[in-house]
Amino acid sequence: MTQRSTVKSGEVVTRTAAIATEVAAKHASDVDSKSRFPRESVAALQQARLMSAAVPKQFGGAGAGMLELAHQCAALAGGCASSGMVLAMHHIQVACIARHGIGSPYFEHYMRHNLVEKQDVVASITSENGTFGDTRTSICAVEIDGAKMSLKKDATTMSYGEHADAQLVTCRRAADAGGSDQVLVLFEKGQYTLADIGAWDTMGMRGTCSPGGKFAGAGAATQILPGSYGDSSAQTMVPYSHILWAALWWGIANDAIGRAAQFVRGEARKKPGTVPANAARLARAHIDLQAMRHNWESCASEFDEITAEDDTRARDTLGQMAWALKMNQLKISASEMAPKLVHEALQIIGILAYKNDTKFSVGRHYRDALSGSLMVSNERINGKSASMLLVFKDD
Ligand SMILES: Cc1cc2nc3c(=O)[nH]c(=O)nc-3n(C[C@H](O)[C@H](O)[C@H](O)COP(=O)(O)OP(=O)(O)OC[C@H]3O[C@@H](n4cnc5c(N)ncnc54)[C@H](O)[C@@H]3O)c2cc1C
Repeated sequence: MTQRSTVKSGEVVTRTAAIATEVAAKHASDVDSKSRFPRESVAALQQARLMSAAVPKQFGGAGAGMLELAHQCAALAGGCASSGMVLAMHHIQVACIARHGIGSPYFEHYMRHNLVEKQDVVASITSENGTFGDTRTSICAVEIDGAKMSLKKDATTMSYGEHADAQLVTCRRAADAGGSDQVLVLFEKGQYTLADIGAWDTMGMRGTCSPGGKFAGAGAATQILPGSYGDSSAQTMVPYSHILWAALWWGIANDAIGRAAQFVRGEARKKPGTVPANAARLARAHIDLQAMRHNWESCASEFDEITAEDDTRARDTLGQMAWALKMNQLKISASEMAPKLVHEALQIIGILAYKNDTKFSVGRHYRDALSGSLMVSNERINGKSASMLLVFKDD
């Protein structure tokens, strides 16, 4: 790491947008075809000290808010969706540490030293064999022995687990705790092993390198994030996930529609004075693209406003049903709209988008965007919204 200066909030998006075009986009096809980690994008982000964008200023990070992080993820996803997803997932873990680890000497040192100075990459293991995609239930439990703790987990999916410097893992608080009485535990490289790693040969998001495997780790009891996962999930992990994912899915759709716009302009240049037939379809796609963007921007701005308030009131607001419903609705609508918009780009461009080797290709965008509805199943999320709406009154 040669560059030591702290990146300023406000520069986060412009610097990431440059990395998206100069680095991420150049390697995106290779990352996708080889299903390999987007190491060039992550190295460029580390070099620019952008991996600590979500770390509060008091610990040396850029202190970027949700709206800025969302724009950052959208910009990177326009160049390479897998890179955008790795960045988003890393920020989600960092936000949990930053918002729930404050006051803990271990986590405060971790932010300064590992996240800011070393630009470490943090992965997450929430999924587990036997819990069927329900992140709010764990089978595994942390074992505490005096000042030490240990954990074993049979994970179904671990994005960039083998490339990360740390894992933030959900588990039950103790062997006798209920399935939803969970905590988050941070394990640093050297403190854990990943075994029986499966394959990650998927339709899309191939660069996230997310196979299943068996996790086993041990460390100090101070590495258990203070508070319950119930709180950190509602107040931090869910809003960061759904807003940053929505933004990056929009980034995929925006790049595909951008290719369609470039194609239509080319058609127009061939016959000056006429409006190509597919221009009207492009205009309609822009309506949905704008609505999608306004949805995540508005949720991100609202999150920033809420968290700028008194901390107790903010945590209370984020724990309310109204906010949970808003997050669920954003996640479902964005993950459904992104592949639809890529499909529109395909229809507008035609065969040059269907081919994998033209500047108008959208095959990778299509396959990447399809992951959104599965990354925590939309049906599972909608089922929870349906139960909430039976009792929720919007005053
Ligand atoms: C690109 C990518 C990266 C990922 N990275 C990670 C990671 O880093 N760490 C991690 O822990 N996990 C990760 N995951 C896992 C992910 O977040 C989910 O936990 C996992 O995809 C859920 O698997 P599932 O489809 O079998 O789950 P389920 O939610 O059990 O869904 C199975 C089926 O049941 C249906 N279903 C479920 N609930 C209902 C309901 N209430 N009503 C009707 N139908 C329902 C679903 O529609 C689906 O058809 C990743 C996933 C993807 C796609």
